[in-house]
Amino acid sequence: MAKRDYYEVLGVERGASEAELKKAYRRLAMKHHPDRNPGDKAAEDAFKEANEAYEVLSDASKRQAYDQYGHAGVDPQMGAGAGAAYGGANFSDIFGDVFSDFFAGGRGSSRGGAQRGSDLRYTLELDLEEAVRGTTVTIRVPTLVECKTCDGSGAKKGTSPVTCTTCGGIGQVRMQQGFFSVQQTCPRCHGSGKMISDPCGSCHGQGRVEEQKTLSVKVPPGVDTGDRIRLTGEGEAGAQGGPAGDLYVVVNVREHPIFQRDGKHLYCEVPISFADAALGGELEVPTLDGRVKLKIPEGTQTGKQFRLRGKGVAPVRGGAAGDLLCRVAVETPVNLGKRQRELLDEFRKTLQSDSSHSPKASGWFEGMKRFFGDL
Ligand SMILES: [Zn+2]
Ligand SMILES: [Zn+2]
Repeated sequence: MAKRDYYEVLGVERGASEAELKKAYRRLAMKHHPDRNPGDKAAEDAFKEANEAYEVLSDASKRQAYDQYGHAGVDPQMGAGAGAAYGGANFSDIFGDVFSDFFAGGRGSSRGGAQRGSDLRYTLELDLEEAVRGTTVTIRVPTLVECKTCDGSGAKKGTSPVTCTTCGGIGQVRMQQGFFSVQQTCPRCHGSGKMISDPCGSCHGQGRVEEQKTLSVKVPPGVDTGDRIRLTGEGEAGAQGGPAGDLYVVVNVREHPIFQRDGKHLYCEVPISFADAALGGELEVPTLDGRVKLKIPEGTQTGKQFRLRGKGVAPVRGGAAGDLLCRVAVETPVNLGKRQRELLDEFRKTLQSDSSHSPKASGWFEGMKRFFGDL
């Protein structure tokens, strides 16, 4: 299809001033803009045609080439010598200039290219001791950083991105789906409005490369599973000069062989001998600061909990430290020798005549009697 004369497209005289060109283009662009003519192919074509005409005529050197050679002077596909003047037009600049006052903020980040990088999440496994006391760890995070070869542009050194031909630099395309016309991010330029004809070899046109980043993370004392530490700007690099995202280090505290944690309190189970439980005594129990002595009164039953104040965790958000709760479990002796059996057998006989030695059992037998009596 033969191209129409650019002046004719814009409806201006050959000698039109810059202001007249701009005014004419504004009028046409507003009229045929895809946002106002959803699904209208003719409007879309008119819009693209006006864009192309304005792109050439608004540039003094291109306009000169066009005036002299016609379309051959500015269309690189025609291969004319003067085509060199065409270069890589920065279409989005023109577009931004003309449209910023009409669509201020309305198009979000989909146009203009610069996009904030994604936030990243890193799961940090910590031992309970590290979580309670705080620590500094070195982590390695795979992330996208700005390509140094092309400074993030994605274009080969000495070249620059050109206007996307699929969306005409808008970054959005209209798709017909049944009765509906939906606006979508341009699949070719992914919304940037530009495409790279000569991609940078290092990043294959992405402008960003994957890299293992080594970071030092300071973990404050008292953190717990699910707590997040935010490292501002350590996420993925932004696209085309956009700001970097953040890195969220999410804490996961490993299970501890002795202690269970519930918020600021710690729990542990301490086995005690049947004799210690009966006679009372002093036990050594573990805490995160080392062993401490715990007095057990005589007649201690299994399951009894002893509270060691302040031996829990000082919460990361402040406040008093929690407690350590030691639950004793009376252990039945095993692998008894002959003498031990004799002693226990003798001991058993002493119990049989007096139920007052077995507070639980006597209560239990009472209950059982009532239960069978009711039947
Ligand atoms: Zn690159
Ligand atoms: Zn596009």
